[in-house]
Parts: sequence; structure tokens; C-alpha cells
Amino acid sequence: MELEKNRLIDSYKRRLDYLRISITDRCNLNCLYCNPLSTETKLLHKEILRYEEILRIARIGVHLGITKIRVTGGEPLARKGCCDFLQQLGEIDGLKDISLTTNGVLLNEHIDGIHAAGVKRLNISLDSLNRDKYHQITGHDVFDRVWANIQLALARGFSPIKLNMVVQSGINDDEIRELARLSLNHPLHVRFIEQMPIGKPPAKTAPPVLVPAIRACVESLGELIPVTKAATDGPADRYRLRGGKGEIGFISPVSNHFCSRCNRLRLTSDGRLLTCLLSDISEDIKTPLRRGLLDNDLAAVFLRAVGRKPFSHPEALMPSQQPEQMVSIGG
Ligand code: SAM
Repeated sequence: MELEKNRLIDSYKRRLDYLRISITDRCNLNCLYCNPLSTETKLLHKEILRYEEILRIARIGVHLGITKIRVTGGEPLARKGCCDFLQQLGEIDGLKDISLTTNGVLLNEHIDGIHAAGVKRLNISLDSLNRDKYHQITGHDVFDRVWANIQLALARGFSPIKLNMVVQSGINDDEIRELARLSLNHPLHVRFIEQMPIGKPPAKTAPPVLVPAIRACVESLGELIPVTKAATDGPADRYRLRGGKGEIGFISPVSNHFCSRCNRLRLTSDGRLLTCLLSDISEDIKTPLRRGLLDNDLAAVFLRAVGRKPFSHPEALMPSQQPEQMVSIGG
């Protein structure tokens, strides 16, 4: 490939080295804040990028400067062949890090394959520790299974394992302390995420619970000691509860967005490069790829997307501005 390297620098001098790939828009859960079943139409099989197409795009991205890839969905483990795909992704020269975001339901079935593919870092969505509440939020009575799978992942040595809790007003905000407490006894990174106005929430939605309130709740368990951020860190502000084995992270896309240090690009399952989670600006890379264009032409699509990356998303997103649902973008 005769592509120039390290070209993914946007108009605001941000180096984009992190690609999130959604490999499917389908999910085996139906979380309230993500709500995949409410999507009017699912993508047709032929609309979804094939694995070899994703791998080609990923290789071009890595050549241009991507060093980290996160595989997400929908539920990535619900797509057949996910582990073989991870394995092939791991063989891309120059790619330094692969991670996976999953709801954990199918983790036990795939844990060996994920491990063998060289994935070390797992993000697992866990919005409640209460079986009934978990059922209410996700639409499925699978808390026990997910919890057992988290234990399994710990035992297999995945590290870090980040547990993502989207804090939902009046639904699970009474469990913030319980979730945070997990980081005391387990080497788990518990991350509290402000709920973003994405998708189609019910007409009356309570205002999101913001990080200052979440943090105050966690601090009632003890002092939060800041953890120094590494250069490769994502948007979470990291802390440790005194004596804790794990960490606490706060992610504030609503109250204090992190656009100025955004280093991300996203590849949707239907083959678009998205430059901002909360904007609908995208570049179609599937059509030129399927028309047989050369790697250089596909690299030009990357560069076009990067050139269109907005500095930030709107301060306040009105319901009418809500972009597509998270299930098709991958978070
Ligand atoms: N199925 C996988 C899972 O459940 O982790 C991956 C896809 S899910 C869309 C990826 C992440 O997006 C999850 O960690 C979830 O917490 C986050 N997410 C989805 N909708 C969100 C919203 N409205 N606000 C904040 N985070 C959201």
C-alpha cells in the first residue's frame, strides 16, 4: 500500500488515532436508553459490512494513523464469527490495542476466542445489580448470567474490566453507591456515564443525572483519590476509592463534553465513517469499497471524514436534533 502514514489530523489539530467499529446493529438486549427494538427498520444483511470489508477499512485506517480499535455494536458477540474477526483484526500490523464493548450475555460462550485473539480490555455494560431492575432496564432476565460472566472474565485475567453504568434518573440512580462499592473488593473499573439524549426516548424523560451528583453519591463511600491519566486514556475522569482494588470513572458527555480532546472516529455497521457521536456528519465508505475503488481512494474517504470533523457537538441537544440510535453507532 502506497499510502502516506499518520495523516489523520483534523482541522483543529486533533490527532485521530482511535477507531470504534460497530459490527452489527442487532442486540440481544433492549436497554431503555438505547432501545434497539424500537428502531423502525433493521439493516438488511447485504447492507451490513462483511468482515473482510471491515478488515480492509481497518487496515487502511491503521496505515493512516489509527492505533486503537474498539469493537462494539449492537451486541458484537451476537454476530456470528466475531472471535475470528477479532483474531484477524489483531493481526493488523501497527495496531497496538483492541478492546471490546459487550453486554456480557454471551461472554462465557466466546471467552476463549476473545482471549486467544489478544483482546485484554473489556467494557461490560452493567446498569443494575438488582435482578428485577436489570430485567426492567434491558428487557431480559439475564442479570445472573452477566454477573457470572463478569466473574469469569476476572478469573481469566482480562484487565482492565470496565463496567459501564448509564445513570438513569429514577431508574437506577439509587444504585450508584452499590455499583461504586464493587471497585472496593474487585479490580473492576466502575464507570458512571451521563445519559445522552440519543435515540427516541419516551415523550417525558427526566433530566439526566449529571456527574457532580453522581460523584457526591460515590464520595459518601469514602475519599476519591485521583488516578493520573495516561496519554491513551479515554474521556473518563479516573479515581480510586481509598483502599479499593479497582477504579471509579466518570464520563460526562452532557455536563462537560470532552470534544476538545476527542481522538475518535467511528465506523458504523452499514459502512459510514462518523466523526462525532452527536452529529449526523458521515462519509459513506461502503459504496466506494464495493465499487472496487483502490486503497488510496478509500484513504481519501477517511481524510474527507477527518476534514469534516466538527470541533464540538451542539452545547444542548434538543429532542429534534437527536441523531440516530446508539445501537447502530456503537457508543
Ligand atoms: N451491546 C454492547 C453493550 O451493551 O455494551 C455494545 C453497544 S452499547 C450501544 C455501547 C455503550 O453505549 C454502552 O456501554 C452503553 O452504556 C452506551 N450507551 C448507549 N446508549 C447510551 C446513552 N443514551 N447515553 C449514554 N451511553 C449510552
